[in-house]
Amino acid sequence: MPHQRAAMSYLAGSRFSQTFLDCANDLIQSIDRNGRFLYVNRAWRETLGYDEAEIATLSVFDILDPECRENCATLFRDIAAGKISHTYEVVFVAKSGRRIPVEGKISTDFKDGELVATRGIFRDISKRKAAEDLLRDQKLLTEKLIRYSAVPIFVLDPQHRVTDWNRACEMLTGIPAERMVGTSNHWQAFYGEKRPCLADLVIDSADRHNLDALYASAKKSELLEEGIQAEEWLDAVGGERRYLSCDAVPIYNHNKELVAVIETLHDLTERKKMEEALTRLATTDTLTGICNRGKIEESLRQEMARSARYGSPLTILLFDLDFFKKVNDTFGHSIGDQVLKEVAATVGKQIRETDTLGRWGGEEFMVLCPGIVAQDAVAIAEKLRQRVEELPIGVTISCGIAGCLPGESMDGLINRADKALYAAKHSGRNLVRLAA
Ligand code: GH3
Ligand code: MG
Ligand code: MG
Repeated sequence: MPHQRAAMSYLAGSRFSQTFLDCANDLIQSIDRNGRFLYVNRAWRETLGYDEAEIATLSVFDILDPECRENCATLFRDIAAGKISHTYEVVFVAKSGRRIPVEGKISTDFKDGELVATRGIFRDISKRKAAEDLLRDQKLLTEKLIRYSAVPIFVLDPQHRVTDWNRACEMLTGIPAERMVGTSNHWQAFYGEKRPCLADLVIDSADRHNLDALYASAKKSELLEEGIQAEEWLDAVGGERRYLSCDAVPIYNHNKELVAVIETLHDLTERKKMEEALTRLATTDTLTGICNRGKIEESLRQEMARSARYGSPLTILLFDLDFFKKVNDTFGHSIGDQVLKEVAATVGKQIRETDTLGRWGGEEFMVLCPGIVAQDAVAIAEKLRQRVEELPIGVTISCGIAGCLPGESMDGLINRADKALYAAKHSGRNLVRLAA
């Protein structure tokens, strides 16, 4: 191959420039117009694994991945036609069969208008490609993890725009991702009118006042320190009132800048309804539908604590149906039950919203009147007595009134109300008496 050898010495030039090129980590090659190698450097040989003798038998098309051979043939023609060289990405195949993505520049050498050689300097970009592939795979995995998680999830960017709205979130809210992604309309999926969601408040973390006002139950998320968790009835989730547990968690990049807030939702409506039904069952008197003994005692304890803390007045009324045994004896027990229901309903209608009526036991009832001094409660009790007396069922009540004294125990207060009731009975019944 005299031609090749001549060109080789022409291109490689001095011993100095060969040593110089062999120092480069980039793959350097020179090929003639037919694609035959005129020169390759050390990095080229080591990366592709061919020795000098083998290289002499190769053409550039032997080391190109079949998939980019066609592109390269076009490229080669363009170069021969004198078109300008840019940066190219091609895939070389090493002797071992390993595919090596490279990126490089090609320059041309013309003599008397004829292409003599092309020179290429390529950089092995396998590592960068592998990192890009890994990144792409990880991004895909993250997207799929969010997309197909059974937990409803949506993600906001720092500008409050929805970037993800997963399948479970679509199913919970009935709103498809296409309608949400790219907008700031996520509130529409949960509320009847525009207002911040928990994730918005995590973005505006300084807006603590709004957080407390909008999410009374807000507390630190168990998932992440900077996250917020809240459990609330939301008025319009997929068109209905639903009880959701929401966790909004901020995501920061390595520069500690906020890049996203992920809000996960947990629909607890059924459980909440069941809990509320159980609480109702546990605190309601089945016959009359008013508070049972346990509940009224608990309410009294709370009201006494509040009264002690704020120094506000609290008065209780204890009333008992007069000669109720006679009602049962005359009309039967079930009519007696109806009478109890009617009396409870009548009294319930008369009292204020802040008052509480409960069945103390048998045909004895208690009314809690917070914010009312005992003296003023006399008129209230008197009105109740009159309303019951006016009922066509022909029963009356006797009522004892006691206002809570400073430092008084619950038993002490109830005892005084009971004594006042006893006094009303002994003074002739269908009467109201104030405790001493
Ligand atoms: P007094 O005026 O002294 O209160 O006379 P009274 O007949 O009402 O006497 P007392 O309070 O001792 O009797 C209560 C009666 O109420 C006895 C009991 O059979 C009846 N009673 C208690 N609970 C119920 C109930 O749930 N349903 C019915 N029908 N009667 C009840
Ligand atoms: Mg009675
Ligand atoms: Mg009684």
